[in-house]
Amino acid sequence: MILTIKSDAKKKDIDALTEKIKDLGFTPHISKGAVKVIIGVIGENEHKYKDVFESYDIVESATPIVKPYKLVSREFKKENTVFDVGGVKVGGNKLIVIAGPCSVDTKENLFTCARAVKSAGAHFFRGGAFKPRSSPYSFQGHGESALKNLAEARKITGLPIVTEVMDTRQVEIVERYADILQVGARNCQNFELLKEVGQTRKPVMLKRGMANTVEEWLMAAEYIYSGGNHQIILCERGVRTFENSTRFTMDLNAIPVVKHYTHLPIIVDPSHGVGVRDFIAPMALAGVAAGADGVMIEVHPKPTEALSDGMQALLPVMFDKLMQDIGRVAAAVGRTI
Ligand code: PEP
Ligand code: MN
Repeated sequence: MILTIKSDAKKKDIDALTEKIKDLGFTPHISKGAVKVIIGVIGENEHKYKDVFESYDIVESATPIVKPYKLVSREFKKENTVFDVGGVKVGGNKLIVIAGPCSVDTKENLFTCARAVKSAGAHFFRGGAFKPRSSPYSFQGHGESALKNLAEARKITGLPIVTEVMDTRQVEIVERYADILQVGARNCQNFELLKEVGQTRKPVMLKRGMANTVEEWLMAAEYIYSGGNHQIILCERGVRTFENSTRFTMDLNAIPVVKHYTHLPIIVDPSHGVGVRDFIAPMALAGVAAGADGVMIEVHPKPTEALSDGMQALLPVMFDKLMQDIGRVAAAVGRTI
């Protein structure tokens, strides 16, 4: 339920109302917009108390939130969420570009890649230290040594780091090195992990599960947001369909749909969405044209040496060309890069 507060309301009356909300067993979330203060009343069956809230003099209106997700909904917050990560604005008019290898392998490859994506204009460097692999026999990631190498790559390039955390037991260590915590597709509904990253104050990039509806995905984001962490980037990375000529199917529909239903930023990851090197660039451009707030692209200087996802890694020269093309499409839709 959203309580819109009258503009002349006194602080002591707002405090009394928030106490009442707590007494009834709900959690108040206060949001101070440019013009109005609104209070989100979050809990189960809160709509039953509409009359109680409306009986307060300072309450202009009490409107139930129809969607099952509340705080991340546009109903709760009209303006786009924009936040700063290491000097880079996320969710604003300027797009963000995250690039780097699927997984961290040698220092030499990592640093070559970091320098290349930096000089092409990327804003964040990515690389996996803990890898979610379908087979237990596949490379699982170099763990902490990879995190240390990522931190060194940050020192060399100045690019903030995005890296995946797969389990509640890894949150502390990943948080120590990363600038953005990635929650991967396979963990989109790992509710304990979502609660744990909701407690951190590092931004979270939440990938859509390959079989999750937009509603389920936004409910997953709600777990993080309701824990107090409001810096969330959604990432469309393709869903599973009957089609097998590509690895997954990039759900471009999801971009305008998600932007309609939530105030959170959304980026696209055509590398996993398509999974075939030659088809990634057009889908990155399509994502930007559809209104995404950024893209994530896997890049590797020597894809044959990559320990995961080499077949979908762009060579630095291809990434460089893609960045220029993204600039043109961005300009066509009134954005910058
Ligand atoms: C990744 O970003 O390398 C990754 C494993 O992505 P996803 O969770 O989307 O499969
Ligand atoms: Mn990958």
